[in-house]
Amino acid sequence: MFDTKLLSPTPENIDYCARLIKCGEIVGMPTETVYGLAANAFDESAVRKIFAAKGRPADNPLIVHISDIDMIKTLSTDIPELAWKLAESFWPGPLTMVLPKTHKIPSVTSGGLDTVGIRMPKSPVARELIRACLLPLAAPSANISGRPSTTSALHVLNDLNGLIPAVLDGGECEVGVESTVISFESDGVRILRPGIITADELMSVAHNVFIDNGVLNEVSSDIKAASPGMKYKHYSPKAKVVLVDGSLESFIEYAKENASEDTFLMCFDGDEIPDDLNVVYYGKNSREQANRLFKVLRELDELNAKTVFARVPEKSGEGLAVYNRILRAAAFEIVRVGE
Ligand code: AMP
Ligand code: MG
Repeated sequence: MFDTKLLSPTPENIDYCARLIKCGEIVGMPTETVYGLAANAFDESAVRKIFAAKGRPADNPLIVHISDIDMIKTLSTDIPELAWKLAESFWPGPLTMVLPKTHKIPSVTSGGLDTVGIRMPKSPVARELIRACLLPLAAPSANISGRPSTTSALHVLNDLNGLIPAVLDGGECEVGVESTVISFESDGVRILRPGIITADELMSVAHNVFIDNGVLNEVSSDIKAASPGMKYKHYSPKAKVVLVDGSLESFIEYAKENASEDTFLMCFDGDEIPDDLNVVYYGKNSREQANRLFKVLRELDELNAKTVFARVPEKSGEGLAVYNRILRAAAFEIVRVGE
């Protein structure tokens, strides 16, 4: 087994990674949301390497990343006027738009769909890499499927060392959760996956914003989901995570009654927790929680947590992105306390 190269994002290293990608290899790249595992979106066999390295189900489509707005024309035709307006407001940034795909995109990239998710990342390293390749890059999150997404180059190595030739180290991701994914309807947009760009922000451009049922509900694995990623077990540490919904007081009472020595509580900064309970903190507001969620889920593995009782984040605004992820980490297991 070889070691994956951990490379600082110098112009030489970016060129080196671009050469790897142009030869059909896959490379870890930083973005402002989470780390991506990037390949030439047009190269079927390179894209297959992504699915193999991650162990990703073949029907879970990849997001295609671009560095310049002109690149979109090679990926999609029939782009609605609203998509151009949203691109103007939110790109570069954490917004993915699902649009009809051109025949240039192989079906393996789009998970067999006739649409493709497109995003222009804000991270300069990601855009420099795309520019150096002169190609759109298909890049899902750079983690083993089912595990929490990666928000640092070391996390990428933890999951994929020896499975990919290199990862560009762009430091810790600024946002920490994946992009907002939207599709288009005749009278507005539909959020398929919430992110840090919220329904309210989209509303300023799109007027009508619908939230897909799959955002907060379990999607059965045998049905056709609007956003296929929603139906898979996701974001999970090794521990069993349970969401405990209620006041801090009832949360603590529940924890005292049910915690064993390898149970950890996942709390908000500022929560006062008795000393005899194990606790990790994941931020005081939604933005911080989004930023730390995946890191903390990975830390819980290092602490050998067997069970995690988690405080429930806000369910609206930026909090919806956090709630959507933690619900899946908990396999939708919620205990309501203090009712
Ligand atoms: P990841 O890159 O791992 O964050 O996963 C990308 C997610 O974006 C997928 O799991 C889908 O849920 C969603 N997505 C990407 N492309 C499409 C598409 N063409 N239609 C619907 N959802 C998509
Ligand atoms: Mg993912």
